Amino acid sequence: MSVQQLTISKFGGTSVADYEAMLRCANIIKSDPANRLAIVSASSGVTNHLVRLSQANVSTDEQNDILQKIKNIQLNITQHLENEDELNAQVEILLTQLAGHAQEQSLNHSLRVADTILSYGEQFSSRIFADVLCSIGVEAKHFDVRQVMKTNSLFGKAVVDIDLLKEKATEILKPALNETVIVSQGFIGQNEAGQTTTLGRGGSDYSAALLAEALDATDLSIWTDVVGIFTTDPRITDQARAIKEISFGEAAEMATFGAKILHPATLIPAMRKDIPVFVGSSKAPEQGGTRIQKEVDSNPTYRSIALRREQTLVTVKSPEMLHASGFLAKVFAVLAKHELSVDLITTSEISVALTFDNPQGSTQAVITQAVVEELEQLCEVKVEHGLSLVAVIGNNIHTTSGIGTNIFDTVEGVNIRMICQGASSHNLCFLVPENDANKVVEKLHNSLFPMQ
Ligand code: ASP
Ligand code: MG
Repeated sequence: MSVQQLTISKFGGTSVADYEAMLRCANIIKSDPANRLAIVSASSGVTNHLVRLSQANVSTDEQNDILQKIKNIQLNITQHLENEDELNAQVEILLTQLAGHAQEQSLNHSLRVADTILSYGEQFSSRIFADVLCSIGVEAKHFDVRQVMKTNSLFGKAVVDIDLLKEKATEILKPALNETVIVSQGFIGQNEAGQTTTLGRGGSDYSAALLAEALDATDLSIWTDVVGIFTTDPRITDQARAIKEISFGEAAEMATFGAKILHPATLIPAMRKDIPVFVGSSKAPEQGGTRIQKEVDSNPTYRSIALRREQTLVTVKSPEMLHASGFLAKVFAVLAKHELSVDLITTSEISVALTFDNPQGSTQAVITQAVVEELEQLCEVKVEHGLSLVAVIGNNIHTTSGIGTNIFDTVEGVNIRMICQGASSHNLCFLVPENDANKVVEKLHNSLFPMQ
């Protein structure tokens, strides 16, 4: 059979959390013959356990305790399958390897071994999910994505070699897709030396998008635990509602500015190849979801409000900047050297304010002492925490009059720390104190998205 329509389906941690969840995903795959490649995250909770296991100074007792918890999650799934014994034997092999890496890590901690440890969650879930598919009559095979997902050696946030991925995927994965459904891992890759790498927390979405690009897929489906992308976080206001259709540009801003629903880089490969992305809930596939694509029917001024907590604001100040050139280049050189990515930036005559995200569950502080010290060679440095970034996302924000008034009148009385507008047609964002963030989003949502 030749692959005409090819949908890459990515199932997140909650979608493969237990047997019932995996079964629902298996039925989603079965429901459409275009679903040939499933990319899975680790079962919910497993990567967090592995993060702990990958840290320095974990006692042998704690190691054993974590390994047991991880094992229980797997065995709770495999007990429902006919080939339980065979699968459990594979689980045991992986657990023994994992225990060895954990021991190695506790003796001599390295980022390289940390990535190897983190990769096991996806290794378990992908093997088991392939068998869940087989159990409902879908011929499926497990495939080690490291054969194709070639990266550099930046452990913890490895960069994928897109050309090599395309070459390998065409050579190895494409023919395999003609034989059976393939189940593979998100999040993990491999460097030139054959060592395991990871693409960063939440990276499975991005893996799936890269594979969709490499394989010229017709669609990418991201299956999660919510029925699509919402006008804002429904935990903040019950007025939030699912968005049926959104353009790539708007969705990319949303992913970047807080809506944790997609890994921020996910849409880049999809946009490069113009592959429509669907986001839906594996718990309720019949409820539909959000379709993200190049052209959409309507382009409203206000589409959504995103909130990102735990932002770090760094203000650098130097009298040298007055009428001088090259200061910013030096500041950015330090940031680049430490692989730090700046989100927002505002400048005045002698100072520059920059914001940085604090990725949730990340094991590394964003602005380390080393960064501060290097910046202090150039200027005064002030680091502030406890701020949230609110982004109002929509269309033609930079050319529509009255937007600023609409927004800032609504949040009157709140101390707005920084405002960025104008660089993008799709957003206006600002920082507010963490404690005011929910109230600000709720008020804005009531005002910009009134119930019809
Ligand atoms: N399992 C990884 C994590 O929890 C990757 C992912 O789920 O996207 O971050
Ligand atoms: Mg995710």
